Amino acid sequence: MGGCVFKTAYTLYASTCIGRCVHNRCLHMFKRHYGQTAVHSRLTPFLFNDLLILPVPFLVNNYAYVVADLQANNFVFVDVGDADILKRLGVRPDAILTTHRHWDHSGGNKAMREAYPAIKIYGGEMDNVPDHTHAVRDGDVLTFGRLKFTAVWTPGHTRGHIVWRLHGDVFHTTDSVFTGDHLMLACCGAPFEGSVETMVTSLELMKTLPEDTWVWPGHEMGLGGLEMAAFVEPKNRAVLAKLVWVIRRREEMRCTCPSTIGEEKRYNPFLRTGEESLQTALGLRQQLSESILAEKPLMINALCFDWILQKNGDLLRLKKEIRAKEKKVNSDTNANTAALAPPATATAPPAATAPPAASATTAAAAPASTAPTAASAVTALLEEDLRIRRSVSRFSSDILLTREQHETLRAAETAASSAGKSRV
Ligand SMILES: [Zn+2]
Repeated sequence: MGGCVFKTAYTLYASTCIGRCVHNRCLHMFKRHYGQTAVHSRLTPFLFNDLLILPVPFLVNNYAYVVADLQANNFVFVDVGDADILKRLGVRPDAILTTHRHWDHSGGNKAMREAYPAIKIYGGEMDNVPDHTHAVRDGDVLTFGRLKFTAVWTPGHTRGHIVWRLHGDVFHTTDSVFTGDHLMLACCGAPFEGSVETMVTSLELMKTLPEDTWVWPGHEMGLGGLEMAAFVEPKNRAVLAKLVWVIRRREEMRCTCPSTIGEEKRYNPFLRTGEESLQTALGLRQQLSESILAEKPLMINALCFDWILQKNGDLLRLKKEIRAKEKKVNSDTNANTAALAPPATATAPPAATAPPAASATTAAAAPASTAPTAASAVTALLEEDLRIRRSVSRFSSDILLTREQHETLRAAETAASSAGKSRV
């Protein structure tokens, strides 16, 4: 029954104009609530000689991308979910590449066509991407001056999902992949339009790319992805190291991309479904005979994928419980404070101005100084992360600030930092 409701709702969202209306409404409400310029991450350009890659944040955690050859002035946009934010950049793109048909990746194509009638918009032939002008197949190569892309068909999240591989050699750098909702930092998209086996096979394809390939996902999922990875595989030191790094990045509102294929292979559980250590950590390996493990690797990997999802469900429930407990403790504390505190509490500084660096130090130090085991280190990190998110609202993906609020916060941080330096 539940599956049927989901299927209907998904079809209405993904395949009808109802989905477009819902997406436009989300954009409108988001901008009205948070302001036209509110973003989840600071705009950070990445330069590789003449090659510019600019992740453009929008909505709660989406990224579109501007890819530019700065010498030849060629621009390509990837995944225009919101045309307004890209039009504000004031450049005319040579083309738009779409990873898949979901509206948060393609909802701006129509407005871009209206603004630039001759523009070429590419998407996978199996996906019927909204407002596309050209359909591509696996292996198709597109060139725009020195910008050269290869379409890699990665079905699972949608039937025609495409990962766009940008060739870096002409810029004397490594390749990049724009992975949409296929591969994300320490996680992957849900297999909405394919079996788990299909998704696993498409993810295995990513592992065949060179290890130093940059990974540019369609969503800012670093923190959630690493928390899940740490919960699934608590003894994996690569997970813990990256989690600490991600917490620090998000404290500064910086994007956590790009990672590399090599990194993802070390900590992303969905790329590690064939790893003995992960299968053991999940308890899966202990339940299967050696012959089954050896004979049916795809089936085992798919099973492992499912178990990771179940474990993620456990984590979400745990987080909910922790939040509920903290909420209760906070409300009890507030009630006690209101009853006992002297009037001076009214002049206490607002929570948002608390220097975030202190939290990062605590988070980084926890596993080394206080936690005797990896599991308790993870728990400490999780609790610390929840505390950070709660105390400093700008880290939260569901509480964003306007530009004015960011500026006020930045000014407060600068003042706090200079005050700290002068004390030293
Ligand atoms: Zn999607």
